[in-house]
Amino acid sequence: DVAICLFSSDLRVHDQPVLRAALRAATRVVPLFVVDTGIARAGFVVPNRAAFLAGALADLDAQLRERGGRLVIRTGDVVAETCRVAAETGAGEVHLAAGVSGYAQRRERRLAEALAGDGRALVVHDAVITAVPPGAVLPTGPGRDHFAVFTPYFRRWRAERPRAVLPAPRSVPVPDGVRSGAVPSAKELCPGGRPSPALPEGGERAGRRRFASWQRSGLAAYEERHDDLAGDATSRLSPYLHFGCLSPVELVHKASGRSGAGPESFVRQLAWRDFHHQVLAARPDAAAADYRARGDRWRRADTEVAAWQEGRTGIPVVDAAMRQLRHEGWMHNRARMLVASFLTKTLYVDWRVGARHFLDLLVDGDVANNQLNWQWMAGTGTDTRPNRVLNPLVQARRFDPEGEYVRRWVPELADLKGAAVHRPWRLDPPARAAYDYPEPLVDLADAALRFRRARGQE
Ligand code: FAD
Repeated sequence: DVAICLFSSDLRVHDQPVLRAALRAATRVVPLFVVDTGIARAGFVVPNRAAFLAGALADLDAQLRERGGRLVIRTGDVVAETCRVAAETGAGEVHLAAGVSGYAQRRERRLAEALAGDGRALVVHDAVITAVPPGAVLPTGPGRDHFAVFTPYFRRWRAERPRAVLPAPRSVPVPDGVRSGAVPSAKELCPGGRPSPALPEGGERAGRRRFASWQRSGLAAYEERHDDLAGDATSRLSPYLHFGCLSPVELVHKASGRSGAGPESFVRQLAWRDFHHQVLAARPDAAAADYRARGDRWRRADTEVAAWQEGRTGIPVVDAAMRQLRHEGWMHNRARMLVASFLTKTLYVDWRVGARHFLDLLVDGDVANNQLNWQWMAGTGTDTRPNRVLNPLVQARRFDPEGEYVRRWVPELADLKGAAVHRPWRLDPPARAAYDYPEPLVDLADAALRFRRARGQE
């Protein structure tokens, strides 16, 4: 008898409940990945994530081969292809990790129906993509299907005992005669466009190495250092978590096993990830619609948006961050916050414009984390202080006090010493003229006033 392990955002063999369950259910397992053309049609396949995904699939295939198995790859509609492989192999069950987006929820329903029509079953597994499943902790009160505020969520989340970590299977016996299909390259996954030059290597083994080294070098000091822009002292595990190359359950266990403010604060960030996932699971429309509509009449400002995207707003810390995004497909969390506040509050442009640009470039680009963090910053999400505006100069003074982050990413200003790099407009006109760098796009004080007026705060 045969079962299918349908991989999705869980491209790993360690702590892999879907694969373990398929191996328990049958003597032979088809480890299947479908390059889902529906995701490409939705505009979600971009060069940076395609490059990382290609690496992750090659790594998964190699790890399955070490265990006597291999990855079976198909391309097309995920439901049709899975049903076809099930028919070819006579699989009775398909195992899949529970997803949270509207797309993933529809896929589950469609797949369950199509398989049932052929007398087969879909078995969906929780606590694969998140540490604590959406809906496992709920606020009290009738009809409450998710937490809308982080702090009470976190209290309850922290009291949950995450499930035990599962070891990687020793052997993965695949039925004979199943066509493997070649592991696709980045170009095959995303023919147009070029990936950013400095992307992380995709895959579980790269992710486990990264976690092991960061656990030694970064975890203990995470609480003091995570906001330091130049220090770059966060884990950079987000792409591995997004593609499921690392298990959030395993990370929570490992970090919780160490005492101190660093591990505790890191676990809190993993809870933020779960928090946004449980919001999206309950409100999948929040990927595109305002979670809390406030009647914003966003400005249309194409030239200003283009300057923001290209990192030439004339506010050095904003430009540094936007250029880091283009170069690495990643941006520091503090930088994401300040550029998002700049777009949605200083420029008063719709958060969807910024979220789209992030999704075009972020290697960790994730519907739950991206759309809900954008809304948090824009004031249409779960932030309990929706009208606060982050002043980029205040942020720069606090989180890049020596100006190192800006000098790294805005080389035209690299010979300005210390914090002077944050305010090139303060130079004498002749000195200022020597720098090929734009004047600020907006007056920050006027822009903050415009935002407060639009929000009826003045
Ligand atoms: P660390 O600080 O080492 O944190 C560890 C892990 O915790 C991260 O890998 C991530 O999985 C999780 N995490 C940390 N902060 C958050 C947060 N605020 N919300 C949810 N999870 C968090 N994260 C994404 O993974 N994908 C996105 O598309 C994304 N878009 C964002 C957009 C905006 C406007 C903002 C403000 C934040 C966004 N984040 C997103 C959250 C956060 O910025 C990144 O997860 C973090 O910077 C990744 O770096 P790291 O792995 O070094 O994080």
